[in-house]
Amino acid sequence: MKVIGLIGGMSWESSVKYYQIINEEVKRRLGGLHSAKCMLYSIDFAEIERYQAAGDWESAGRLLGDVAQSLEKGGAEFILICTNTMHKVIDYIEEKINIPILHIADATANQIQKVESKTVGLLGTKYTMEQDFYKARIASAGIEVIVPNGEDIVIVNDIIYKELCLGKMEQSSRDYFKEVIQRLVDRGAEGIILGCTEIGLLIKQEDVDVPLFDTTVIHAIEAVNQALEV
Ligand code: GLU
Repeated sequence: MKVIGLIGGMSWESSVKYYQIINEEVKRRLGGLHSAKCMLYSIDFAEIERYQAAGDWESAGRLLGDVAQSLEKGGAEFILICTNTMHKVIDYIEEKINIPILHIADATANQIQKVESKTVGLLGTKYTMEQDFYKARIASAGIEVIVPNGEDIVIVNDIIYKELCLGKMEQSSRDYFKEVIQRLVDRGAEGIILGCTEIGLLIKQEDVDVPLFDTTVIHAIEAVNQALEV
């Protein structure tokens, strides 16, 4: 079994899910007392959020690059960046290490291709929804990505940073996300990417009729595939 290196803490609320899913999946597959070989380096999210807000992606990338280097030195054989947004700085991280990074958008695109959805809606931070680093990666797999309108982008982003990353799950926000998802479905989305690792803490498959692609679950399961070389 390979050792998984997790860059977490963005936010820790979703890193908990990564740790749980990865261990549950290894136990499910191998049985008995088996559990995952993994290392979680959980950073202080306040530092990263300050860099994001200032647009200083280079400093954020260098910080995460140092973290990845520590994980490699500690014995990690491949890396997961446990957030969609911070894949924006993957180049800074890759240049510091000699082990591969399992990209969250690639794992997600593979899953979407399996169910043959052609058009998907994307929910995430404003950086993920507005910028190209993530959408282009999904689109390069032949999948059309649509995002909410400007006002919805602002509110979804606010809910992520002011509630979900702080562990607050409000019914009013769940209802709002359901409305945003319906608007995306009305515009042609056949499935919805939960492209922020905390959204799955708020919205579950049973809340909506359209298939959800929960990036936390997809990324964590793919990590187990790689660790067990399936
Ligand atoms: N966890 C979130 C994501 O998947 C947002 C936090 C962050 O900015 O990294 O994008």
